Amino acid sequence: MGVARFALCKIASSTLPRMHHPSALRKMSVASDLKNSTIFRSQGLIGGQWVAAHDGKTLQVNNPSTGEIIADVPFMGRRETNDAISSAYQAFNSWSKLTATERSKCLRKWYDLIMSHKEELGQLITLEQGKPLKEALGEVSYGASFIEFFAEEAKRVYGDIIPATLADRRLFVLKQPVGVVGAITPWNFPLAMITRKVGPALACGCTVVVKPSELTPLTALAAAELALQAGIPPGVLNVVMGNASDIGDALLESPQVRKITFTGSTAVGKKLMAGAAGTVKRISLELGGNAPCIVFDDADLDVAVKGALAAKFRNSGQTCVCANRVIVQEGIYEKFAEAFSKAVQNLQVGDGFTEGVAQGPLINEAAVQKVESFLQDALSKGAKVILGGKRHSLGMTFYEPTVVTDVKSDMLLAREEVFGPVAPLLRFKTEEEAIRIANDTNAGLAAYIFTNNVQRTWRVSEALEYGLVGVNEGIISTEVAPFGGVKQSGLGREGSKYGIDEYLELKYVCLGDMNRE
Ligand code: NAP
Repeated sequence: MGVARFALCKIASSTLPRMHHPSALRKMSVASDLKNSTIFRSQGLIGGQWVAAHDGKTLQVNNPSTGEIIADVPFMGRRETNDAISSAYQAFNSWSKLTATERSKCLRKWYDLIMSHKEELGQLITLEQGKPLKEALGEVSYGASFIEFFAEEAKRVYGDIIPATLADRRLFVLKQPVGVVGAITPWNFPLAMITRKVGPALACGCTVVVKPSELTPLTALAAAELALQAGIPPGVLNVVMGNASDIGDALLESPQVRKITFTGSTAVGKKLMAGAAGTVKRISLELGGNAPCIVFDDADLDVAVKGALAAKFRNSGQTCVCANRVIVQEGIYEKFAEAFSKAVQNLQVGDGFTEGVAQGPLINEAAVQKVESFLQDALSKGAKVILGGKRHSLGMTFYEPTVVTDVKSDMLLAREEVFGPVAPLLRFKTEEEAIRIANDTNAGLAAYIFTNNVQRTWRVSEALEYGLVGVNEGIISTEVAPFGGVKQSGLGREGSKYGIDEYLELKYVCLGDMNRE
């Protein structure tokens, strides 16, 4: 805590010159309030102990909106990961043997604590990730909902009895926890990407080693602190961060880790999938998307604009389900482009703590450079910027919300995730063409369609090679529905009654010799 306190004090002093600015004052008090809160942690969690890296190395966590240092956290590697695996392995013995009701009560308590610290957790997310506070608070509720849902679901892990083929036999199917789980998560949802994995894992009796992104570890650590406060026993939930590939390799190589669950880029997901082969681990992957957002001529224009705006610009375009290609039918194209641009123009860019801000900064300089290179590629191939198209005058990693027209399928903007506030508009003529363009990608996570034609809704939903389809709606994620991709967007599903299966093994038991007295 000493390091964190020092670093947070630094924020306060570095904002002194701007003290008269209300948002600077607010940030100052947010930082110092968090410093004094019971959820703020800046060490790793192994076996219930808050620990530093064995060699004392640390890494800085920055506020992407200001560049200021929020805290230093341990830069861990193989050694600490192996310690975390050992404690998770040990804890598995007792945690998996608790009754489902006992585990459920711990999770429910954890949920209650997350919700009672919603404000602080939201502030922490905004501080280290940059998203507007309103969105951050939304993420806390969304993230917590997985803990609540799986607290309930813990009690519904039913087995089966199978009618036997021989009269003196009885056949059963048991569902048992897979064991120790390694969970690797990204920075764009610092809380929800963790709870979506840890909720079901803990519910069915698994124990977990979490590796949050080095960019946003503080939210993960705060959530882990609340898990301890909720009475989740030491070793059941461990958090290590630092050298990503060393931590990943330790998780992959350990025979004690029986499952890897990963959310992040497709490139890293493929590496982990290959690495998991060495010890034949279970693996779930939530990877990148390239979401089409198809607007048909018969769509309600207002609904389409509102939906596309939400699907594209949430978290400044930095979500895996963000609309990456807005594919618009020729009859509505001009009207849509105009109305959509007007709506985009109204998005206020700024620090996430400032009232009314809808677009925070991008996570880092590399993210801005990626956006710039994609845009450059599109412009060189004939696309036109009709709004934005450059860094924001606020500096740092703020980027202007951007709309680009005349985008073609061969441009980087249409082929890969831009992961930023740029909406590329493509034009199509027929339903068949829209489906072909939409499916012309290796990704298959989320897709959106806007139409008032019921038959088309069904036809297109069925034809889209995607794991999630939003119809006349841009925000579709919920804890009660299965989330996940097809093709190279991933393996497995998170959330919903299906999500817990990822953490369960089926065991078939055959009881013979039934007729013996
Ligand atoms: P990333 O670079 O793949 O990082 C994700 C996580 O993997 C981070 O914790 C990272 O650690 C870690 N990592 C990096 N290299 C590793 C390695 N060799 N071995 C083990 N772990 C390693 O992805 P990101 O940039 O953080 O996140 C953005 C991507 O996530 C986008 O493609 C987005 O679409 C995808 N995403 C998908 C979903 C979904 O549900 N499908 C949800 C959210 C995001 P460090 O950060 O510490 O380097």
